[in-house]
Amino acid sequence: MKEYISPHCRIQGCAGSEKCRNAVIDYDSILEDISLTAKKIEFPSYNSDVSENKILSHRLFSMSASFCPNACSRPQIADFGIIASSIVQVTDAGCTGCNACIESCREDAIRFPTPATPEIIREKCLHCGSCSSSCPSGTISVFKTGYRIFIGGMMGRHPMLAAELPHIYDRDTVIELFKICFEIYNDLFYSGLRFRNMILRYPEKLPISLREIFLTALNGESRIKSDTSKQQQTVTLSEENYK
Ligand code: SF4
Ligand code: SF4
Ligand code: SF4
Repeated sequence: MKEYISPHCRIQGCAGSEKCRNAVIDYDSILEDISLTAKKIEFPSYNSDVSENKILSHRLFSMSASFCPNACSRPQIADFGIIASSIVQVTDAGCTGCNACIESCREDAIRFPTPATPEIIREKCLHCGSCSSSCPSGTISVFKTGYRIFIGGMMGRHPMLAAELPHIYDRDTVIELFKICFEIYNDLFYSGLRFRNMILRYPEKLPISLREIFLTALNGESRIKSDTSKQQQTVTLSEENYK
């Protein structure tokens, strides 16, 4: 685990940020760049939770990066989390019918409507890239890599899993969104709220272009104990990782 702690932010990355065979993206300095971004953002000096320029650890803004969907660094409970992702595609290269892709997919997200014609079931795919790595013919290949973004995870009295924003984002957009979220957190730090509740209570702090996407994501999520299928799936994946 890689960790950077600035006076007001904790940034954690899973082992894949250095070396892990499951990492979807080869080494990427995104954590260093996010850490530098965080350091440049000024923190208001008026807060009672700040003593000798140090914020109590439970009040640090938490950022967590995992480099595959196993999510070892638990981005789902961070204020701002990311998971590296590969979007795979089916190409024209001839399929040998070896079934390696089906065997490598833990999500049951590949089917063959007709022999030698794979199809990715997008609703099930977690963008781990395993199928493309195992495909000997290039019939399934990586189309694009990037990051899924999660916002507003928190523990405490009313724990909530983070809400996932739609789409896969490139690293520059991830850093820009981190900066916007962290600035809002600093601005509203005095409220004592976690980032999720800041957004829900003061949505006007978000740029207009982000308001709907953030609020739709946050309002669509439910508490950890809820039994919606999406939430159960997320919890199960996280637990599986710690067995
Ligand atoms: S989240 Fe994936 S890449 Fe990161 S340490 Fe866990 S298994 Fe490795
Ligand atoms: S990227 Fe991963 S989850 Fe998606 S189809 Fe391939 S193996 Fe399955
Ligand atoms: S791994 Fe590639 S070649 Fe083998 S069945 Fe899947 S798509 Fe076809």
